[in-house]
Amino acid sequence: MIFGKYINKFYLKYALMILIGIAALVAVDYAQLIIPEIYGMVVNGINDGSVTLQDGTLLTFDLDFLWQYICKPMFIIVAVIVSGRFLWRICLFGSGIKVERDLRRQMFDHCKDLSCEFYSRNKIGNMMSLFTNDLETVQDCFGSGIMMTCDALFMGGMSLYKMFKMDSTMTLLSLIPMALMLVVSVLVGKYMTLKWQVRQQAFSDLSDFAQESFSGIAVIKAFVKEFKELLAFRWLNKKNENANVTYTRISTLLNIAVTLFVESVICVILGYGSFLVYQTTFNAGQLMEFIGYFNSVVWPIMAITELIEMVSRGKASLKRVSDLLDAKQDVTDAPEATDVTEVKGDIRFDNLTFRYPGADYDSLENVSFTVKAGENVGIVGKTGSGKTTVADLILRCYNVPKGTVFVDGKDVNDITVKSLRDFCAYVPQDNFLFSDTIENNISFATDRGDIEDVKYAAQLSDIDDNISKFTAAYQTVLGERGVTVSGGQKQRISIARALMKDASILILDDSVSAVDTDTERVILSNLKQARAGKTTIFIAHRISTVQGLDKIIYLDNGKILDVGSHEELLSRCKEYQNMVALQTLEDEEGL
Ligand code: ADP
Repeated sequence: MIFGKYINKFYLKYALMILIGIAALVAVDYAQLIIPEIYGMVVNGINDGSVTLQDGTLLTFDLDFLWQYICKPMFIIVAVIVSGRFLWRICLFGSGIKVERDLRRQMFDHCKDLSCEFYSRNKIGNMMSLFTNDLETVQDCFGSGIMMTCDALFMGGMSLYKMFKMDSTMTLLSLIPMALMLVVSVLVGKYMTLKWQVRQQAFSDLSDFAQESFSGIAVIKAFVKEFKELLAFRWLNKKNENANVTYTRISTLLNIAVTLFVESVICVILGYGSFLVYQTTFNAGQLMEFIGYFNSVVWPIMAITELIEMVSRGKASLKRVSDLLDAKQDVTDAPEATDVTEVKGDIRFDNLTFRYPGADYDSLENVSFTVKAGENVGIVGKTGSGKTTVADLILRCYNVPKGTVFVDGKDVNDITVKSLRDFCAYVPQDNFLFSDTIENNISFATDRGDIEDVKYAAQLSDIDDNISKFTAAYQTVLGERGVTVSGGQKQRISIARALMKDASILILDDSVSAVDTDTERVILSNLKQARAGKTTIFIAHRISTVQGLDKIIYLDNGKILDVGSHEELLSRCKEYQNMVALQTLEDEEGL
């Protein structure tokens, strides 16, 4: 059995199921302990032609006896064992599966509220192994743990009691090697737990690597690094294999040792028991009965050793699961924060200096600017100058100091994160698309599933024609991360998804970089018309994207160099002039 902050409540939640399971298990154990008695009667009956019952009655071993005392009880015992086993498996293993489901739901629920910071620190492969391997171990520990604990207590206790009742000396003699076996198992079990952790880590590394390789397959192919990746994968796979082999080797050795101990006890019982039979203290049937009880006590003792090992594994996995569930939700609402029911789209940054958690330099320094509701604003600057950071902070992906970022004149810290995001739409740089139909990808941002709205959004982002050419049109299923469409198509589908929301604030992060300038012009003109009166922020590298906008913010190394229209910046900002000159040159060379 396994206990912990996140698991204790399930014993109560599934108490009825667990109790029914335990009752069925006890009934099975009880029925199993009658079998050695029956064996004893059969042996004595065959030997002597008569059987003495426990109350002292002497009965002839005939057909009537066989039916009354052997066959009939055996039928009932078999029926109890079969139905009982079915019931306890359903109840105990079933409760384990339910706990796994509940924990997985709780973890997923918690994960969706964790900040971008958390995901930048934790690898996806590791997260996946938490949701699969670790949860499975916890589930196993829960269901099998209850079963093994009850079996060890009831079956072990009852068998030992019956053995002691028959002959205490022989019981003690047989228990000495068993106690030794328990000690060995506990010690080896500890070592196995360590090896199991190594095995889990090796598996986690392997899944991390596989996940990254598949995600970055295009880069690997482009650089012809398939062989290098294969070698690296082989190495990790070998490491995983070695960890598995080591674990299996120890577990096999332990199994052999256990068998050795058990067989040695059987030798002791046979030797000493035969001596007792020779002395007529015992008869052959009683010896059979004693061996039967001993066989029943072997499993509970093995269960204890397995339980110790299983619980240590379960604890390690539960700790990893608990660490995830304990992970702080970095971006939370302040107690005084209230919902906003309407957002016009005014944005103000007031002398904001921002450093990413754990970073050793500021990504934004004394940044101040205003965006009026309905304005189309561009943010330009070199890579790493802080453009995406500005978008992340408007969307409250990270905490910002009080009094630095305002929406409609209200400090964002006084607005609940969800209600603020409800009024924002975002086209991220990586244009992530789900493995789903184009229609579902576009309508993802809203609850409205109307295909006409989806088509309209696609027309605005100039992708409708492309989609209509696909055989299944809007029902085309996009592959993993949308690889079946080109980069430019992905960008435009992502823009359509954001437009579906018709939000007061729309942020496009480098979202038209993969489309040609003609398409860019169409999209920008459509956006201008469709989003009249709403705020739109374009983060861009190309001057063509921002030159027609109301305002351009030029960021350099986390600082604002200048804010103004294209013409204003062109006339007074040296860096902007250089940027324009460079791009004009590139365009001319490209022609
Ligand atoms: P841009 O969008 O202009 O290319 P970013 O806003 O992405 O630039 O990054 C600005 C700076 O912040 C860069 O120096 C970058 O390395 C750093 N940065 C970005 N994201 C993180 C993060 N999650 N943790 C730490 N530093 C980050």
